Amino acid sequence: MSFSLPPALSSLRNYVDGEFVATDKCFDNVSPLHGKVLAPVHEADAALVDRAVQAARQALSGPWGRMSVEERAKMLHRVADVIERRFDEFVAAEVADTGRPVEQARALDVYRGVANLRTFADLGKVAHGDYFETRLASGQNLMNYTVRKPLGVIASICPWNLPLLSMTWKAGPALICGNTMVVKPSEETPSSATLLAEAFHEAGVPPGVFNLVHGFGPGSAGEALTRHPGVDAVTFTGESRTGAAIMKAVADGVKDISFELGGKNAAVVFADADFDAAVEGVVRSSFSNSGQVCLCSERVYVERPIFDKFVAAMKARTEALKVGWPDEPGVFMGSLISHEHRDKVLSYCALAVQEGATVVTGGGVPTFGDERDNGAFVQPTIWTGLADDARCVREEVFGPVCHIAPFDREDEVIRRVNDTPYGLAGCVWTTNLSRAHRVSRQFHVGIVWINTWFSRDLRTPFGGSKLSGIGREGGRHSLDFYSETTNICVAI
Ligand code: NAD
Repeated sequence: MSFSLPPALSSLRNYVDGEFVATDKCFDNVSPLHGKVLAPVHEADAALVDRAVQAARQALSGPWGRMSVEERAKMLHRVADVIERRFDEFVAAEVADTGRPVEQARALDVYRGVANLRTFADLGKVAHGDYFETRLASGQNLMNYTVRKPLGVIASICPWNLPLLSMTWKAGPALICGNTMVVKPSEETPSSATLLAEAFHEAGVPPGVFNLVHGFGPGSAGEALTRHPGVDAVTFTGESRTGAAIMKAVADGVKDISFELGGKNAAVVFADADFDAAVEGVVRSSFSNSGQVCLCSERVYVERPIFDKFVAAMKARTEALKVGWPDEPGVFMGSLISHEHRDKVLSYCALAVQEGATVVTGGGVPTFGDERDNGAFVQPTIWTGLADDARCVREEVFGPVCHIAPFDREDEVIRRVNDTPYGLAGCVWTTNLSRAHRVSRQFHVGIVWINTWFSRDLRTPFGGSKLSGIGREGGRHSLDFYSETTNICVAI
């Protein structure tokens, strides 16, 4: 099996000012399923990044800048129409780059790519400002109202774990607010990004509005873009350390930033939880997308009376998960994103043992007896017995691993959940309604799920605290970030 790229993607080019641009310097896009090269990727140098930023700036005052919000919304819906028409190509691109199950690419990645664009196209049309009437002590009456304007040129730096979903999550609100963009996808996932540029092109979006530059971070397109003085704001999703580097790069320009960063999320299972639902939910929240979702639970705390039974049920359920080719019936996990990332995850597996973990299941590489043995697969892994200060309990692994620990009291588990430098997400499993609300509001995170995981309404705020991010996106929160508001004060 090859899981190759669609024919349109035989080489992956940049998209600048409405044209697809090849460069002399290429790097390989490698399949994590079997290690074969999928296509050459044309890396953008600083000069091409500069052209992309100039084109985006120019486009702000071109036809795009003169369009009404309704016209921009129509354009975004047209882009979504193209994605729907070329749905299978997008699925193939996501699967080839990431090694994930085809069903996941269909039901999550490409589905959400369409939904992100359509949702923000519609939300933008009903965005409004503030209005206040004021009477001063002198008797003077004032009327205040705000107008929304685009921020300008947005640099969007995206991760590899949910490529199309992340790009459209930023592009939808940024563009409906009238901004223009330069997007840099992860070097690991250039394919659906290139198809997205084709969708913008086919939909007739004016040149310069959506630009795409391929490359790496430091010393490549990512750094050139975030350091470019013509960029007005940076929206970034990725590792916390990278966020810190980007913050330094934009500091001199005092640019607006929105950061969605790493996590070390906890799931808490109380003894009164619906046991089967909790086991199923924690398996999903730990191992979906091979554990490569920022929202995955890497720390699981289980109330002591059900601890042994819960660990045994997790072991049985995890060992039944099918790891394999993306299109195998019933497959749950494909490969990890790359061999380099697999080595990082395996180094944590070795560290966990050194730190005293009991390996309940997994901890190594599955063998298939075919070309997948050259791929980047890791077994879903459960550890118990680590101390709260073990590195495997404190550091984000971003792979199919979780540590399960017992707890005795509510206040104790809340303290342990919050004892982390991260603050992205958490889960609470209980049938006690008061406890569910009482506990979840004490988590220092941006989002808590009660008796579920991952479900989202795109109008709700999304983001993290502490090392997990700055700001919130989603619904009006995205529209606020991607707009500059001016207050007009009128004496009446
Ligand atoms: P990463 O930080 O390694 O890379 C993300 C992007 O930043 C890539 O496009 C990369 O090329 C670019 N980059 C790297 N260094 C740069 C620099 N100095 N200047 C400019 N650009 C630079 O992250 P990743 O490995 O692609 O993604 C995994 C991480 O993303 C995990 O930590 C995960 O938790 C996080 N994540 C967070 C969210 C969220 O919503 N909070 C969502 C998805 C992923």
